[in-house]
Amino acid sequence: MCDKNEREAEISASRKNNKSADDGVAEDRVRVGYIDSVYCGSGVDGAGLRCVVFFAGCNLRCPFCHNPETLFQKGKAVLAEELVQKLRRYKPYFRRGGVTLSGGEPFLQKEFCLALARLLREENIRVAFETNGHVCDPALIAAGELICDVKNQETDDLSVYERFFAECVRQGKLPRVTNVLVPGKNDREEKLRALARLVRQYFPRGNIRFLPFVKLCEDKYAALGRPFPYADVRECEKEDVLRAEQIVNEVFSQKI
Ligand code: SF4
Repeated sequence: MCDKNEREAEISASRKNNKSADDGVAEDRVRVGYIDSVYCGSGVDGAGLRCVVFFAGCNLRCPFCHNPETLFQKGKAVLAEELVQKLRRYKPYFRRGGVTLSGGEPFLQKEFCLALARLLREENIRVAFETNGHVCDPALIAAGELICDVKNQETDDLSVYERFFAECVRQGKLPRVTNVLVPGKNDREEKLRALARLVRQYFPRGNIRFLPFVKLCEDKYAALGRPFPYADVRECEKEDVLRAEQIVNEVFSQKI
């Protein structure tokens, strides 16, 4: 194993050696990105079984964040082609699913995301982006399937999602909309109705999938020496999710 600085120098040399190629695809192969980890075996990050690439870095600091390790560390430098080679080995396993680029916030590394998406498509591997919806970039939105997790736990202002959803509609995209349901934070009926009305306005045939807030990440915060901001918040129960679903279904079934 080489350390991170050696690794970055090696990658930089590799880029220079390949600079002669004026072809965008060759450039994609040496595109460098920063990731935290790769996990194969997720059933919740898109359709079918998924390999998930967790990008390092995020523009938000959600107090319930399950992946705090992606927020405070630079991550490992990787070449797009190397990563795709690694993912290719798992292809038989996720043939009905695909690869999900998550994080952190993958859309913060635009060129790396686009390069990965193109290289994965060359391998006939389906790509999905799991984003917080705060980076409304038409090229990224166009580059794969979308999972947009709405972060409304600490705010009632959903205008950022209006922009993101409007661009999805302009491109004919139907994102999967998810929302971490946190008791006492975003489970008020009014708030649930506001979210449902917004999603229905842009995607009348869409839906919202609620992800129950749990505290499995507490050890990660302890390992990072950081307090878990929602340590005192109660975990979400099945009944909370059923109630939220019922409210959202009511809004979706109302005539516009
Ligand atoms: S957007 Fe996701 S990765 Fe970023 S802080 Fe929020 S939960 Fe964590």
